[in-house]
Amino acid sequence: MQEYDLFVIGAGSGGVRTARMAAGFGARVAIVEDLYLGGTCVNVGCVPKKLYSYASHFHYDFEDSEAYGWSGLTPEFDWPTLRDNKIQEISRLNEIYRNILQQAGVEIISGHAVLQDSHTVQVGEQQYKADRILVATGGWPFVPDIPGKELALTSNEVFDLKDFPESILIVGGGYIAVEFAGIFAGLGAKTSLSYRGKQPLNHFDRDLRDKFTTELGRHVNLLLGTTVETLSQADGGKCRVHFADGKQEIYDCVLYATGRKARTEGLGLENTRVTLDAKGYIEINEDFQTQDPSIYALGDVVGRMALTPVALAEGMNLAKKLFAEDDSKLDYSNIATAVFSHPNLATVGLSEDAALTLNMKIDVYESDFRHLKHTMTGRDERTYMKVIVEQGSDKVLGMHMMGADAGEIIQGFAAAMKCGLSKSQLDQTIGIHPTAAEEFVTMRNKRE
Ligand code: NDP
Repeated sequence: MQEYDLFVIGAGSGGVRTARMAAGFGARVAIVEDLYLGGTCVNVGCVPKKLYSYASHFHYDFEDSEAYGWSGLTPEFDWPTLRDNKIQEISRLNEIYRNILQQAGVEIISGHAVLQDSHTVQVGEQQYKADRILVATGGWPFVPDIPGKELALTSNEVFDLKDFPESILIVGGGYIAVEFAGIFAGLGAKTSLSYRGKQPLNHFDRDLRDKFTTELGRHVNLLLGTTVETLSQADGGKCRVHFADGKQEIYDCVLYATGRKARTEGLGLENTRVTLDAKGYIEINEDFQTQDPSIYALGDVVGRMALTPVALAEGMNLAKKLFAEDDSKLDYSNIATAVFSHPNLATVGLSEDAALTLNMKIDVYESDFRHLKHTMTGRDERTYMKVIVEQGSDKVLGMHMMGADAGEIIQGFAAAMKCGLSKSQLDQTIGIHPTAAEEFVTMRNKRE
């Protein structure tokens, strides 16, 4: 039996950050992982996705370069090169995670952890005792229970396909669906997206969704308002998709991006007092404590905001709480987020509908234009920006953007909003010319 101050289950973004901060504060810490160091983000999420997104954008850059005088380019895309370079890069990152943990003095344990009681964890033959246990096991792709669901790929497998598909159907309309739609279309696959609603990206600002649906439709065959009923095997290892309206189509592969669920199965939670909510997420209080006082949880397994920077912030907050006598609460307001679709989207604060639902009196400012780069290329792609301002207080409530580098741009404005940004302060800011971002500080006219 070994004793620790903190035993962390799950070496993803939240678990690793908590473990290494806690060890830095002098705690005796162990971390156990049954898959890969770095969790979803490093292995099958943010990082490889962003690399593939870069890869897909070259397609358009090659096309656009002709208007700028480049000629003679006959680029060919080679999937194994991209995939294998990605595998190498992720292995490098796995090692960096291992080194970071080791240098911080965290003991790394490989295997599947099962809680035995509020202070005991079993990994294989070995039992570990800890004053406190943190469950940071993240999430797992959810595929609806339809006949043939075993034929569907998820984001866990799609990065490492043996062969690049000529055609792909992506099911879903959230972050992962639209990001992969952009990636596969850009890399040259005939890409279709089936979403049950009218426009993808539910919960995002309505105008942003409107504009984005138009842009997405330029590269992707949009099957909006459709539902897949069954998947079945077709000749040549392809997949036949049976839609609810009776239509059938064959694709080389089908990717399900229909959300993620908390990863709690087989953890032994039934041996503790930890409770789950109706959606299967671990229930915690504002100090990340479960119903079992010695067990904590954070990150995707608690279902607050399934974003890496949120898990990192939660991990730092918890480590400080437990081992550095800092009892400050984490502020979840105005967390910016980006979708690495084509084009990119980013958003911080309230959407127009969210503000109206809160009965706020608002003014809306917006700008819809063709990026300077495309005045030469002739590409029709639009850039769109929107600012929601509270009447009276003049406070900026939300900022939304669709266009190149939207995430890079919104990140800066998110810091300004954290400082209480007002519309008149935006107006007083002198722009950087010529940029797209300067539009945010030159919007003078309210929308009628
Ligand atoms: P999302 O929750 O974003 O989207 C799920 C999508 O699947 C929605 O469009 C939903 O439709 C649809 N859906 C759900 N259930 C069904 C069903 N039974 N049949 C058909 N469609 C269904 O999930 P993702 O998997 O895209 O991503 C998970 C989370 O990971 C995100 O919410 C985000 O927090 C995080 N993430 C963040 C990224 C980033 O920061 N760039 C990138 C990728 C993921 P409806 O809208 O109608 O409910």
